[in-house]
Amino acid sequence: GKIPSLDHPFKGNMDLDALAKLMSERGDAVPCVMMTITNNAGGGQPVSLANIRGAAEIAHAHGKPFFIDGCRFAENAWFIKLREDGQQDRSIKEIVRDTFDVADGMTMSAKKDAFANIGGWLALNDDALAEQARTRLIQTEGFPTYGGLAGRDLDAIAQGLTEIVDEDYLRYRVRTNAYIAERLDALGVPVMKPAGGHAVFIDAREWLSHIPPLEYPGHALACALYEEGGIRGCEIGTVMFGRKPDGTEEPARMDLVRLAMPRRVYTQSHADYIVEVFEELAKRKDDIRGLKIVKEPPMMRHFTAEFAPL
Ligand SMILES: *Cc1c(COP(=O)(O)O)cnc(C)c1O
Repeated sequence: GKIPSLDHPFKGNMDLDALAKLMSERGDAVPCVMMTITNNAGGGQPVSLANIRGAAEIAHAHGKPFFIDGCRFAENAWFIKLREDGQQDRSIKEIVRDTFDVADGMTMSAKKDAFANIGGWLALNDDALAEQARTRLIQTEGFPTYGGLAGRDLDAIAQGLTEIVDEDYLRYRVRTNAYIAERLDALGVPVMKPAGGHAVFIDAREWLSHIPPLEYPGHALACALYEEGGIRGCEIGTVMFGRKPDGTEEPARMDLVRLAMPRRVYTQSHADYIVEVFEELAKRKDDIRGLKIVKEPPMMRHFTAEFAPL
């Protein structure tokens, strides 16, 4: 998962040996084990059922709850169906059921695999804990039926959850990204392989190798894509992860640009347009300059930092 050019069916998997080691050595300091499916920061890469079960088993062996950040649970299930041994003849619903069977709870952003425009939820198997959470919700936002989420949004989520597991939809969605990644690859643009579920990730550090990591090749590429073609992407790299708590800075492990695809919005010609913009950029990529940060908040700077060209 740390080498973008390497193909692997489940790059979102957790390193179970490292997890077991951490839990043995410092389990007392761990409140829960949380797994994100698919792995957003790592390229929208899926997690196998075997790995989900393995992580849950380690958490439970240490008496800790196992949680899933399930934002892209349907895409993850689709990849399991395509790629994991013995899953090919099973329905997406069955795979989703298996995925969450081993979890004690989940968080969800409904903007992702629930087709809604807003909202999300925390789900818990522990009724007493759920009761506490609902009480806290009433104090902070309102009843579960009208608080952060209006009834209209709850209805939209319910409908979205029934539609998101449709295999024709999932096939089209994942194929669109794979198509763009294949064409970029043919153009010589280094992409995260295989293509992710919700996005195409470009290895900006590799493609713009004349820009050092601390001059933010990922953000420079994101800006160039916007200037050239109005394509709005997002750096996942040194801007996002490079600042240390003490204010110093070092290169992140990778400098990627994420082109996240809205669900049910784009057609084939949009996909081709993205490739054409890259064709234009490829002609002048060596002239793309790095950036410096002129203003940044102390935390989570990637959301609000301001930049100037070098
Ligand atoms: C979007 C996202 C979140 C945050 O959800 P919001 O609804 O934007 O607050 C958390 N985890 C993952 C994996 C996400 O993709």
